[in-house]
Amino acid sequence: MNTLAIDIGGTKFSIAVFEGRRPARRDSRATDREGGRDWMMEQILRIAKSWQTEMAIDRCGVGFGGPVIFQAQRIALSTHVGGWSDSKLTADLERELGIPCVMDNDANAGALGEARFGSGVGFDPLFYMTISTGIGGGLISEGEIYRGADSYAGEIGHLTVRPDGPECLCGARGCLERMCCGLWLERDYGRTGKELFQDANFVKRYVVDLALGLKACIMLLNPARIAIGGGISKAGEALFRPLRQELRRQVTAWSRARIDVVPAALGDDSVLYGALALAEAARGGR
Ligand SMILES: [Zn+2]
Repeated sequence: MNTLAIDIGGTKFSIAVFEGRRPARRDSRATDREGGRDWMMEQILRIAKSWQTEMAIDRCGVGFGGPVIFQAQRIALSTHVGGWSDSKLTADLERELGIPCVMDNDANAGALGEARFGSGVGFDPLFYMTISTGIGGGLISEGEIYRGADSYAGEIGHLTVRPDGPECLCGARGCLERMCCGLWLERDYGRTGKELFQDANFVKRYVVDLALGLKACIMLLNPARIAIGGGISKAGEALFRPLRQELRRQVTAWSRARIDVVPAALGDDSVLYGALALAEAARGGR
C-alpha cells in the first residue's frame, strides 16, 4: 500500500510517499504567501502527479496548518496559511488524483505521528505540542486522536497565560501562542528563535509562560508524556532542561502527575507520519 502524505504549514509545505511505512519520496517547498491556495495546490498536484507516473499511489493523508472540521473534512479557518478558509481540500485532491483522501489539522496529525512512530510509542495518553509559526496541540488517548465535540480540542495555543499581555492574532490578549510562538518572538525581539535560545536569560523568562500553558495540560489531562515539535523544539536541552525545572516549580505540590517533556522524535516529519497514520486509519476510503 503506497500512501501520499502532505503537510501544509505556515511557512512551507512538505509532501512524501510512504511504501508501507517506509518513506520513498519526499519534497518540501517554502510557501509563496502571494500565490496563496492556488499556487500551493498547483505545486502539490504537480509533484503528486509526477510521482503517480512512477508508482501506484493508493491513498492520501493531509495535515493542515489550521482548524479542520474533521467530520465534514472542511478547513474552518486559515490564520497562518492564507486563502483556505471553508476549503474542501480533500475533495479537490480526490478528484484530481483519483485516490481517497483524509485530512486533519497538523497538530492532531503530528500527535498521531509521534504516538504511532515517534516519542509517544508506549506513552498513552500523549500530548503533542508544536511551537513554530504558531502553537498547536493534539491529544492521543487510547491510540486515537481526541477531537472533542466539534473538532476543536487540543488548542493549547490560545489558552490565556498573560491576561494583560499583548493582543494575539485571535483577538484575545496574552495567549500562549502570542507569548511563545516563533512568529511573535521574531516580531517582539527582532531576533530569530535560534539566536534567542542561546541567551540563557531569555530562556529563563520564556519557559515561565510556556510552562503556564503546559501546567494546564498536565493538571487537566495527566499525560504519560508531552512531546514538543516544531522549529523551536530544536533548541534542545537549552530549552527542555529549564522548562522541566520551571514545570516542577509551577505544578501544584500535591500533584504526583509526571513531568515527562521531550522533543518530538520525528523532527520535521511528525505531521507526514501522522498523515500516513490518518490514511491508514481511514482504511482507504470514507
Ligand atoms: Zn490567541
